[in-house]
Amino acid sequence: MVEKYKTESQQETIAIATRFGASLPIGAVVLFSGDLGAGKTTFIKGLAKGACDIPASEVISPTFSILNIYKGKKCLFHFDLYRMQNAEDFIAMGFEEYLYPDGITCIEWSERIEQILPAGHYRVHIEHFSESERLISISEEV
Ligand code: ADP
Ligand code: MG
Repeated sequence: MVEKYKTESQQETIAIATRFGASLPIGAVVLFSGDLGAGKTTFIKGLAKGACDIPASEVISPTFSILNIYKGKKCLFHFDLYRMQNAEDFIAMGFEEYLYPDGITCIEWSERIEQILPAGHYRVHIEHFSESERLISISEEV
């Protein structure tokens, strides 16, 4: 089942993400797709609050670092793979263990490592219509 939400502000996206985050079990892997500026990192700010009680202000894009780890009620492992070439690089960096997390893993640009993704995961796709309008699709694959 795919849930769809239309949002018209960053705050609305964060509110939906907070509710979704609160429903996530330990070990959840959430994959994000959508263009640069769609709102993937913004969504993760809300998810971090709902899932782990981590303040939105702590969540910043790990574009250069690839992985940020935030510690809250649960640990959040936040990847941005925009600069990663392929799954071999991901494995070589020792990141594979985060695909089976003792906490929650969020992966922006997960298409870079499609072939090694675990079967059970959530997908969040964000489409960008205008300065402030977004269509957010959330699904779970078991
Ligand atoms: P991404 O991680 O997908 O590259 P970001 O979350 O970093 O995108 O950036 C999204 C930008 O769009 C932010 O500056 C945010 O304030 C803005 N924005 C405007 N409207 C929305 C909305 N409805 N939902 C999410 N972000 C929005
Ligand atoms: Mg981002």
